[in-house]
Amino acid sequence: MLIKEQIHAAAREVGFSLCGVAKCRSLDVSRARFEGWLASGCGDGLDYLSRNIEKRFDPAQLVEGAKTVIICALNYRNAITNGYSAEARCKIASYACTTDYHFTIKAMLRQMFERLRASNPTLTGRAFVDSAPLAEKLWAVEAGLGWIGRQSLLVTREYGTTVLLGALVVCDEADSYDRPYEGNGCGECRRCVEACPNRAIGDGNGIDSRRCISRLTIESEAVAPEGCGLHGWIFGCEECQNVCPYNHSKPVATLPEIAPTFDPRQITAVDWQTMSDEEFKARFGRTPMARSGLDRIAEASRNSRFKI
Ligand code: SF4
Ligand code: SF4
Repeated sequence: MLIKEQIHAAAREVGFSLCGVAKCRSLDVSRARFEGWLASGCGDGLDYLSRNIEKRFDPAQLVEGAKTVIICALNYRNAITNGYSAEARCKIASYACTTDYHFTIKAMLRQMFERLRASNPTLTGRAFVDSAPLAEKLWAVEAGLGWIGRQSLLVTREYGTTVLLGALVVCDEADSYDRPYEGNGCGECRRCVEACPNRAIGDGNGIDSRRCISRLTIESEAVAPEGCGLHGWIFGCEECQNVCPYNHSKPVATLPEIAPTFDPRQITAVDWQTMSDEEFKARFGRTPMARSGLDRIAEASRNSRFKI
């Protein structure tokens, strides 16, 4: 059997900012809400979301014999978070200004798993970082880390929304579990709804991903609906996070592995448009931007103030 306090300690020791431990079950209410969102058309074009829905909400369908979901959060706030001027034209989401978090968090989860195995040698399980259909944000709520804000992100009291998530789904019970987060700290606040330049955030049914700049700059098949623009962003978008009161006066991340490896404020549109593939690969090949590729980023830098 796993000891909850040992799980929390292992997460801290490998560098995670937050950790929660949830008992495996089927999140039926969340699944119904997600299916309603899909039916509304707000996720149209993201076909992978409608595959393996049962696995997203029931980890036992994903990992045979799963008993416990351990959700870990890593604060990534850095000098670029909230650091753009109103005139900035080639903005990049601050989580993307460093090594791809998939590598970093996966390595941390593996270290954590080995620590847990030291006292539970028969422990089995799998680590996930966006790598399988697992509703990580909803499991984070189930594990007590925070609530889902109007902009569909996890909001934590400790670090606001600037956290990246990873999950360990393991086949042992824990001696106790964290309590699911109760309530919703958004209250009457609508700042993110009002700040979204493409009006992608609804009042009750999550975001319309078809209008979201993050998707428009990252997902290769995305086509901007009439009236939507990139508003100076060339990879990702943080407008709805910048205005969230839970992001004010929060600590900057200290883990060297997620320190920024470049400053997008020093790279102009011309730099992006004249960059060679070799230079892009050398400077940004291990960042999340490799997923978009240079052509798409250079194109966004041509159009980032305009409709695409
Ligand atoms: S990321 Fe940008 S476009 Fe997407 S919902 Fe937030 S503010 Fe709107
Ligand atoms: S800006 Fe306000 S409504 Fe939006 S997530 Fe933050 S607290 Fe909630």
